[in-house]
Amino acid sequence: MVEIEKFGAEEEAVESSLRPSAWSEYIGQDQIKKNLGVFIEASKKRAEALDHVLFFGPPGLGKTTLALIIANEMNANIKVTAAPMIEKSGDLAALLTNLEEGDILFIDEIHRLSPAVEEILYSSMEDFRIDIIIGSGPAAQTVKIDLPRFTLIGATTRAGMLSNPLRDRFGMSFRMQFYSSAELSQIISQASNKLDKKIIHEACLEIAKRSRGTPRIALRLLRRVRDFADVASEGSINHSRTQYALNELGINSHGFDEMDLRLLKLLVSANGRAMGLSTIAAALSEDEGTVEDVLEPYLIANGYLERTAKGRRATRATYDILNVAFPADNKGLI
Ligand code: ADP
Repeated sequence: MVEIEKFGAEEEAVESSLRPSAWSEYIGQDQIKKNLGVFIEASKKRAEALDHVLFFGPPGLGKTTLALIIANEMNANIKVTAAPMIEKSGDLAALLTNLEEGDILFIDEIHRLSPAVEEILYSSMEDFRIDIIIGSGPAAQTVKIDLPRFTLIGATTRAGMLSNPLRDRFGMSFRMQFYSSAELSQIISQASNKLDKKIIHEACLEIAKRSRGTPRIALRLLRRVRDFADVASEGSINHSRTQYALNELGINSHGFDEMDLRLLKLLVSANGRAMGLSTIAAALSEDEGTVEDVLEPYLIANGYLERTAKGRRATRATYDILNVAFPADNKGLI
């Protein structure tokens, strides 16, 4: 059984219709798939619950999907939730005490748990037991509750923000990679099939190249391109309609969206000097977390931005793309 209370109902309905439920449909992340496959098989052989798993990496790279596939492979029930929904220790206690032997609890954005809630998680992950304090003052009593052997799967966009005691209690942790255009193209083609809409290979590749290495973005663009094709009464999605639609949507051919471009233009305007995170966040009217977790990872992975001790700088590739002369006295730039 799959229970999800992480998303709004509408978003989940769209995402889940395209979500792979088996390894064969889960494209890329080969090393993670290989390792997880071994650990799943081993724990099935021993008829034990899988050890706790942590996934980290930017949003939309397939962490939730992996958790659902693990549940499928383990024939386990899964409860999907997100840290902001677990406000009080009692909320977590209620979640944990409702689990059954072998069940999986998936907590997204796990770095956002409050310290009090995290504390409860420690003993439940390690000893499968929680201590609940009932009442307050001298009359307070501690009640110990034994939990079934369950698997916690945590996902976070910021491994650095996880406390050490929490990180240490995960038996395995995996860093998600951005996807290549070839992998995204396969994901798009597979999703198109599920949407019952034909698409030619060049169109898949075109969408893939503009998707910031991220399946969630690729699938969103596919749905928008399909809208353009449907309105034009075209039975299949062709290359020129795809290019037209993506241009209309303001997605440029390097995969940058509007926010990326604003960030890169801002850095280039510093003419080679590094800019601090707080300055960038203020200039873009974004919070620092979004700049660090959502915007920067793709730009860094693809060599458009670098982090230095003094702050962030645009690389030579960015100056070239934006058609701005590269500052001559910046030998440190790559
Ligand atoms: P995250 O939890 O990392 O934010 P999700 O698991 O929710 O990301 O994935 C976002 C969307 O992308 C889902 O609709 C899922 O179907 C799709 N997706 C993610 N990774 C893959 C993959 N490797 N192969 C196919 N589809 C994927």
